Order: sequence, then C-alpha cells, then structure tokens
Amino acid sequence: MAVQPKMKKAIFLVWLLLVPAGMWFTFQTFPPHFSGQWLHIFAFLTLTSIVAIMPMVINNTPIFLIQWVSLATFLSFGLFVEMIFAQAAVILLLLRLRIQKEQYFRIPLNLIMFFLVSFLSGVVYYSLGGQTGPNLINDPHSLWLAAVYALVNYSLNQVIITFYLYFIYKSKESYFGKDFIVETITTFITLPLGFVLYMFYNQEGLLALLFVAIPFASLSIIFKLYYSSEKINEYLQKAAEIGHQMAERLEVNGVIDLFIQKLSEMLPVDYAYIFDVVNEDELQLVRRIECGARVQTEIAKFKKNEGISGVVWNKQKGYLYNSKKEWKSYSKGFVPADAESILAVPIVRNKNVIGVLMLASKRKRAYEKSQLMIVDILCSYFAVAIENAKHYELTKTQSERCALTKLYNYRYFEKVLNEEFDKLFQFERKVLSLIILDIDHFKAVNDTYGHQSGNEILSELAARLSKLVGSRGTVARYGGEEFVVLLPEANKEEAFQMAEMIRQAIANWPFTLHQSLELTQQQIKITASIGVATAPEDAEDALALVRHADRALYVGAKRAGRNRVAEYSTC
Ligand code: GH3
Ligand code: MG
Ligand code: MG
Repeated sequence: MAVQPKMKKAIFLVWLLLVPAGMWFTFQTFPPHFSGQWLHIFAFLTLTSIVAIMPMVINNTPIFLIQWVSLATFLSFGLFVEMIFAQAAVILLLLRLRIQKEQYFRIPLNLIMFFLVSFLSGVVYYSLGGQTGPNLINDPHSLWLAAVYALVNYSLNQVIITFYLYFIYKSKESYFGKDFIVETITTFITLPLGFVLYMFYNQEGLLALLFVAIPFASLSIIFKLYYSSEKINEYLQKAAEIGHQMAERLEVNGVIDLFIQKLSEMLPVDYAYIFDVVNEDELQLVRRIECGARVQTEIAKFKKNEGISGVVWNKQKGYLYNSKKEWKSYSKGFVPADAESILAVPIVRNKNVIGVLMLASKRKRAYEKSQLMIVDILCSYFAVAIENAKHYELTKTQSERCALTKLYNYRYFEKVLNEEFDKLFQFERKVLSLIILDIDHFKAVNDTYGHQSGNEILSELAARLSKLVGSRGTVARYGGEEFVVLLPEANKEEAFQMAEMIRQAIANWPFTLHQSLELTQQQIKITASIGVATAPEDAEDALALVRHADRALYVGAKRAGRNRVAEYSTC
C-alpha cells in the first residue's frame, strides 16, 4: 500500500522536531565516555558501516544485523556514541538498498525508529543502575543488565516496526511470519558476539575488532550464498509452474497475457515488450505494456542488430543493463526516458530466434544475473506454448472457415444456428432472422470468364457481406455460390432491410476481375436473389428456418425474376 504524501511530510516533520533535540538532550544527560580515542571511535564506526552495508536479504527483506555492534559500542562508549552510529548505519543501509525517490521518507522514518530504540533502551539500562565504560568486566551485575539492554533494544525495534506497518503502511498482513522468526533467531545468535567484542576490545584493543569482524563477515557471506541458492530454487520451481500454465492456454493472446502477468509478479517490471521475428529479417513489436497497461502503437520494425532487441536477436543471447547509460547508445528511442534497468532475452525455438522479450524498470540495478537465467528458461517455455497456440488457432481456423472466402463454413454456421435456437428456447432471445443469398446465373459467369474469375467474385462478395453485416450477425458460405447471414435479435423487417442493402451492394457496384481469360482487368455486374425467414414466427427449429428462407429465395425471388429480396410467407 502506498504511503500518502501527507504522511510523508508528517514523517519528515516528526524527525526534525524529535531527533536533533533528542540527541542534544542525550549528549547533555549521558555524556559519552570519550577521552580523545579518535582512532578507536573511527574503527568502531568502520565496523558499524561494514555490517550495515552487508544486510542479509531473505525473502526480499533486508535483515540488518547491527545490534551486536551497537551493544559493544554502547557498553564501550555510552549511549550518545551508539546513537550516532546507529543513525549512520541506517543512512548507509538505505543508500545501499538504492531506494527510489518516492521512498526517501524511509530515511527519516528509520532514523526516528533507531533514535527511539537507542534512547529508550539506553535509558532503561542506566535507570536500572547500569554503567557504561571500559571496566564492566569486573561488574557482573552490569553484564546481566547488558543482556536486558539487548532484549529491550530488540523488542522495541519489533514493536516500532509493527506500529509502522500498521499505521503508516496500513498493511493488513501479519508481521510475525517467517521473516520475523529468521530475524529474531539471527539477532540472538549474533548478540553474544557483541559481548565478546566488548571484552576482547577491553583486553586487546583494536585488534579485537579484526578478530570479530572477519568471522562475522564470513558468516554474512555464507548466509547470502545460502539464501540466494534457495531463492534460485524457488524461482526455478515457479518457472516450471508458469511453463505448465502457459502450455494449458490455447490462444496466442492468452499465452502472451499470462506470460507478461507472471513476469510482472516475479520481477520488477515497469515496461514489457514482446517482438516477433517476421519475414525472417525483421522484428515487429507485438505487445507493449507500460506501467501495467497495454499500449497499442505502430512502431517501425527493426532490422537485425538495430536497437537493443536487434542486438539480442543477432547475438542470440540475453543482456542485462543496470542503468540507462549502459544501453542508451544502442536504443532506437522507444524505451521510455525514465527506464533504467533493462533485461532483454531472445525467444528461441529449435535454435532459431522467433522473438525477443524486453523488460525494463525505472530502478537502477533492478535485475540480477540469476533472473536473466530464469527469464531465459521462461522464454523457452513461452516459445513452445506460443507455437502450440498458433498451431491450435490455425487448425481451428481451417476447420471453421472456408479457404477461398475466409468466411465461416457451413459446419460452423450450423453450430451457431443451433446455439441461437437454444437461446430462443430459453427465452434469452426474442427473435432470430436468417438471410440466404444465391448469385444469379453464376454458371454463365463461370462459362464466360472462367472458374478463376468466378472465385474472385465469390471472394469479393464475401468481403462486401462481412463489411455490411459487421458485428450484427454471422456471415457464412453455405455452399457453392450461396451465402447465409444469421442475425440474432433482428425481426423480419430489420432482416429484410439488411437483405435489401446486401442486394443493392451487389447489384449497384460492379466486381473487378483481375484474372479473367482476357488479360486486362475487367468489371462485371452481377445480381443475387435473397430469401429471408424469421424465427419463431416462420419456423420453430433450425432446419425449418433454413428450409423456409431457402423457399423464399427460390419461390419469392428466383422465380419472380431474380435480383430481388423475398420473405417467407405461408401462402
Ligand atoms: P441461378 O442461381 O440464377 O438459377 O443460376 P446459377 O447459374 O447460379 O445456378 P446453378 O446452381 O445452376 O449454378 C451454380 C454454379 O455455381 C455452378 C458452379 O459452376 C458455380 N460454382 C459453385 N461453386 C463454385 C466455386 O467455388 N467457384 C466457382 N468459380 N464457381 C462455383
Ligand atoms: Mg446455387
Ligand atoms: Mg445461383
């Protein structure tokens, strides 16, 4: 949930009013134990900084294991120094996480939290009689209190985070999940390191820092490796799942939509582009998603090696760019100006690049190398799913449509007609009209101009019919030179008007023949006879509707002289 601008302003204000004054108060009330050991202070600050910039990222949550250093700093130099170091650590950590501009409020938000945690746990420790300084080793009571300090410190931290999640982020999710458990365990495992550091430092001086820092840094690295391999496992599992889901989709658009949706759930994606290789030598943009919305555009095609996607195609390998300046020189300029990170991967099928996927984020360093690998795997699943879907769509078209006119065939028409009758029976429709059309003297056209020319006329007539009817009904080729138009929710009068429009659109405009027996182009005029019938008034089932429209065609239109529209009548 996004944090409101008003809330962000309030956070800055609270920080301004609370933290500087609080620090001054702390400095006055609990003056630091400091007698010019600048080198020592600097060494502790360095250790704090190293720990701060090595957060362990578990489930996308950075875990900030600074408490043990804070404990040693507090015990050695007192509350004020610890407080300053904690503030420095927060700033370093957030810089390290490269938060975006809209997230800058997190800096004062965390500074306030760390100030409160430092201050309150320090005050509790002092008020229970705890001491800070170099000589606690001889005072076991203070060491027990130090454990209390650590506990208070950690608990306060959690309480404030919960408060923030609830009141500032308005999050409904429970914070006490897996992350909380991992953080609690790692914090308490590392805390004894703070004691060790304090004691060792008091005996051996600065060398102690080195001895403690090295094992800690190693531990951090091991953790990081462990969790990144776990994360890759998780990604691989997810990728396999997405692969299955894509394979289940039958339509090309469905596969593309699912692919983009899943990628956006897995990775930070502000912009997504899918290109198709067309004509063997060009890339064409087939899908463009910007900030979650599909954008329809006509973008010029790319040649091999042109633009980022052209390079990916040519080199047949994926590329990862961390910021704009790495890709700016290749770009052909359609990637939005605020994009920074780009992940571009070829879509390969049988060793052939069939397309290119390009993802972009407004953030710098948004993608990792391991994600490039996962996207690569997903792209090969995608390639298979797309090929299957294309195959399915082609087979479907072939089984539903006539190859010459591209209109639906009789089989498909029959299916729609039966479905429409079902709706009529279930009172979902009130009326249903059928138009049947037969070209007049078509045999003569074939005889005069050739069969090929006859075919040209059929194709053009089909195009005229589709244009006229549009989404108002279903146009199909009924047989040789006969066509049908099914008009749901059109009464007899409306159907008759449509039929008359069709008749005129045929009779009034000549048809152009390109492949007639004579070599030049020719214009010929034809006419058609049309029959109309309407259900339920003329027919109570699908077969009767067709028969009656046919009867109107032959009796009412053909016999009456052709080039006319006739409606079914019982007489
Ligand atoms: P009318 O309907 O006016 O009575 O005369 P007609 O000449 O159109 O009637 P008929 O049914 O006898 O002829 C239909 C002709 O349509 C026969 C056939 O040569 C032609 N035909 C049917 N299918 C095709 C086709 O796919 N391509 C071409 N070129 N001609 C076809
Ligand atoms: Mg006929
Ligand atoms: Mg005919």
